[in-house]
Amino acid sequence: AQMKEASLHEGIDSTLLILGSQLKQGIEVVKEYGDIPLISCYPAQLNQVFVNLLANAIDAMLGANSEVKQLAIATEAVEDRVRVTIRDTGPGIPPQIREKIFDPFFTTKPVGKGTGLGLSICYQIIQKHRGTIEVSSEEGRGSEFVITLPV
Ligand code: ADP
Ligand code: MG
Repeated sequence: AQMKEASLHEGIDSTLLILGSQLKQGIEVVKEYGDIPLISCYPAQLNQVFVNLLANAIDAMLGANSEVKQLAIATEAVEDRVRVTIRDTGPGIPPQIREKIFDPFFTTKPVGKGTGLGLSICYQIIQKHRGTIEVSSEEGRGSEFVITLPV
């Protein structure tokens, strides 16, 4: 695969289309797109990151049957980087598992529902792009994954 100058907004939008049927289950999607430059990247790989993060957010909110189901996706340019924030109003991530979630095969989902590979793949792909991925979470209120990528 070749690196290309790609629009993250296009990648996120096509990911949202792919996940459309799951999103119809009462989830409100809020896009807060900033004025960001194109990113030199492997677009199919970044789309995989978006699929994994958005699917986790959907699983979290539907699984916990959260009262408010809101998925917010924000982008902004910060100095020589682009920041993408994916925020959900799911149950959050207990502090004692927060450092394990990026490990391959770590899952809290029932057998057959989760492989535990999604976030470890995200981590690898983002690292390959010389970016960062971080999580913060407030139990009972939701989770937030923040990616930064160099422009
Ligand atoms: P999987 O989705 O197959 O379980 P992942 O690597 O994608 O594997 O995620 C690992 C674990 O991290 C999940 O099982 C879940 O416990 C936790 N997790 C990930 N994203 C979220 C989220 N948005 N809200 C709550 N928990 C999450
Ligand atoms: Mg997953």
